[in-house]
Amino acid sequence: MQEQALKLEGRRASIAVIRIDSPPVNSLGHATRTALAESIQAAHAAKEVDAIVLIGAGKLFSAGADIREFDRPEVWKSPDLSELIALIERGPKPVVAAIHGMAMGGGLELALGCHARVATHNALLALPEVKLGLLPGAGGTQRLPRLAGLTRALDMIVSGEPQTAAELQGTPLLDQVIEHEDVLLPAAVALAEQMGEHGERPMASARTVTAENADLQLAAAREQVARRTPREPAKRRCIDAVEASLLLPFEAALERELAYFHELSASSESRALRHLFFAERTAASISDIPKDTPVRPIHSAAVVGAGTMGAGIAQCLLDAGIPVKLLEASRAALDRGVATITRQYQRARDKGRIDDARMAARLKLLTPVLDYAALGDVDIVIEAVFEQFDVKSKVFQSLDAVMKPGAILATNTSMLDINRLAATTGRAGDVIGTHFFSPAHVMRLLEVVRGEQTRADVLVTVMRLAKKLGKTAVVARVCDGFIGNRMIEQYLRQAGFLLEEGATPAQVDRAVEQFGLAMGPFRMSDMAGNDIGYDIRKRRSRETPSLFYSRIPDLLIETLNRKGQKVGRGWYDYQEGSYQAIPSAEVDDMIVQFRKAHNLQARQISDEEIVKRLVYALVNEGYRILDDGTAQRASDIDVAYATGYGFPDTRGGPMFYADEVGLDKVLADMAVFARNPQADPAFWVPAAGLLARAEAQR
Ligand code: NAD
Repeated sequence: MQEQALKLEGRRASIAVIRIDSPPVNSLGHATRTALAESIQAAHAAKEVDAIVLIGAGKLFSAGADIREFDRPEVWKSPDLSELIALIERGPKPVVAAIHGMAMGGGLELALGCHARVATHNALLALPEVKLGLLPGAGGTQRLPRLAGLTRALDMIVSGEPQTAAELQGTPLLDQVIEHEDVLLPAAVALAEQMGEHGERPMASARTVTAENADLQLAAAREQVARRTPREPAKRRCIDAVEASLLLPFEAALERELAYFHELSASSESRALRHLFFAERTAASISDIPKDTPVRPIHSAAVVGAGTMGAGIAQCLLDAGIPVKLLEASRAALDRGVATITRQYQRARDKGRIDDARMAARLKLLTPVLDYAALGDVDIVIEAVFEQFDVKSKVFQSLDAVMKPGAILATNTSMLDINRLAATTGRAGDVIGTHFFSPAHVMRLLEVVRGEQTRADVLVTVMRLAKKLGKTAVVARVCDGFIGNRMIEQYLRQAGFLLEEGATPAQVDRAVEQFGLAMGPFRMSDMAGNDIGYDIRKRRSRETPSLFYSRIPDLLIETLNRKGQKVGRGWYDYQEGSYQAIPSAEVDDMIVQFRKAHNLQARQISDEEIVKRLVYALVNEGYRILDDGTAQRASDIDVAYATGYGFPDTRGGPMFYADEVGLDKVLADMAVFARNPQADPAFWVPAAGLLARAEAQR
């Protein structure tokens, strides 16, 4: 941002309009803060200026701090954000913030430091710092309660979620809410003139917080955070800081807020969340493809197969406003698929997420078809039929025959060889994998699988489409299981070994769930269907006979026929209509009998050992995946695990977590596990990349 000559507006040309101008999001890095401070000082000094309007250039007020500065000294370099805000708030002339687009984080804190605020009705206001494991550190936790009241401030600061100006209208936070952006500046200038004439400079810091039953509200917020997000210290500290707005004088409370900010920014949780924030953005870039690679237009799509995944994928496309032709093998299956999609929308409507009009508009974009000829004109087709090579290759040949040149042929296969599938068509360059996760319209992760022949523009187009669908895409190369499932297989193998050595399914699940995973391996298998894992293991054993699995998960199917939640019995029992996992005496007994029959000694296994063995199984396979180039970078693996496999955000993903532990320690533990007489010795052989990085860390 360049220092600007003062621009004067208003009837008497007495209002200085200062723009926050650091594209693309007007972030408040050091250079921008410096320029703003200089402009404000100039306006303070200029005799002809009565008041000041602060407005964002381009599409928004400001998205806040420059997050890249966080781990660098620049963030505290003078003028830091608090100094800039103090310069405005304590300055001799009124400053009006004119807010459009969004005022987030430090951007909102800056606006809170102004003497008045005018906003367009749809502007988004938020203090989202908590999502990075932090709290607003430039007075946000003190000024927002004073301007918006305790209830709203607690809600906004602890959730990090935005509110629109329309929702905040009527609180002292906003002096005026206007409908149209083109009158924002004139409205702000008029207000500034009025304030200038009367010498009004109301300061948020001089107000007291309005709150009814403050103690009860704080206690309820603490109870909720302890129950729902016990591993997020930032949420607790947000409440503590807001409480300080009630208990302490303003300056003392600011100091308290800053102390909490420093404490949180050094926490492993915040480091992990910041790692994932950047990792997600990095995942979109593909190292070997030029940035100017052209993107193919995607105006229409088709989905083949309207089962669990096909219905969800179609819904994703519809949600993004893309017309979808849905093709099935039979009328009955097609009707079922359309009914599934309709039901999903009805559920969203019943929960108030969409209204009738929107639901109708989306369903109108859906065309059910039975004939491939109808797909000839679409820009992309995503296949989600049965996971059998012969079935899929026939589908691909039919598609190859009718699709227009330049159309993209994508498959949702979980583990079939996409290169082989591509070779069954005459256009292997247009074939790509789009591996959605179930439920496809909900889960954020999308593994984009590039085949040997996949063309660069096809890959770039699908990455762009993923973004449009609101997915977080991670690029993988073709291999069995791609990134996520290839790693989960080693994790599940290890979980089976733990049962042989003395753990119960409930103990294993509890240990990793306490570590923070959304679901332990056995609850997860029950949800996915234990028969699916069984089929994968059988195929694996045929292909790689040397690969050693515990037989216990096989017996769950072969002798007990416990397929999981869908039949009400798997590793656990389930009551009708409930997903609550109830430990099963039958399963525990089967495990005990198995150990007896195979002379296996059961021992007490600590929760710590369980977590290490399962997480390090992921880590070691993660490094193998990097070694053979299946994933582009370690941070992509973290993104996949955090967005698709319930790995806790606050641990940053398995690869980041291992770095935090220290790879030497990880290797030392792996060596101990390898010496276990019951272990498969091949399991814990460290990946080359893991050894190399540990060496580099030393
Ligand atoms: P599904 O059995 O629920 O649905 C498959 C659908 O394909 C059925 O409706 C079937 O009628 C239809 N179909 C079969 N042959 C067809 C043909 N020749 N032409 C048109 N339609 C045909 O299966 P699903 O769980 O939705 O899985 C679909 C694909 O997605 C598989 O490749 C699977 O590996 C993959 N996948 C599944 C999951 C999951 O969790 N279920 C996750 C990721 C990927």
